[in-house]
Amino acid sequence: MEKIVNYLKAVWLGFISLPILLVILQFIARELYLSRFGILITLYKGQPIAINYIVRWLLLIEPESMQGANFWAVLAVWGIGWFFVADWVRDFRATMTGIFLTYLLYIIYLSLYHHYSVVLCFPENFYQVFMGVIVSALAHLRRKRMGRITFFDKLKRAGIEVPEAYQVDIKIPLKCSRCGALLLSNTKYCWKCGKDLEETLYS
Ligand SMILES: [Zn+2]
Repeated sequence: MEKIVNYLKAVWLGFISLPILLVILQFIARELYLSRFGILITLYKGQPIAINYIVRWLLLIEPESMQGANFWAVLAVWGIGWFFVADWVRDFRATMTGIFLTYLLYIIYLSLYHHYSVVLCFPENFYQVFMGVIVSALAHLRRKRMGRITFFDKLKRAGIEVPEAYQVDIKIPLKCSRCGALLLSNTKYCWKCGKDLEETLYS
């Protein structure tokens, strides 16, 4: 069940965040006058931008999106977006699937909803997919190397030591080993028979 949730999370997050990120990037470039350094993103032209136009940029099927800084902005968006999704979902397969499903959903959105005839060329329209794949693989490796940081590790860094016995990973619900009662929380005593559960769990 948790697996399916991860897949949904990855697709949903990617699908929603990429257009937003592209708009944010355009905004930042404009506000910081990055055009002074030759970085000119031309998504915004002083008029409201339609979502399907942004999506066409994200798929690199809009000729303008392939030009100069625009192309790099789209690549950056796929990179930044999928890095954060990978870091949040923490499921390599779900993130990878999310990248391809997001791509597919954008095509479906354009073709079925906007009746836009999508023509994809290889590799022109797939650079951003490569970017997403590479970045989420890197995010995955980074997380693997860092290991799993628990809440207790964070407490330890802050100078608070919690005894080993309290750091045992327990899956609830539990069952009392004496009377078999269902325990919905990690309690010291069984609510039914009063058995000391800490004794058996932590020793
Ligand atoms: Zn009991």
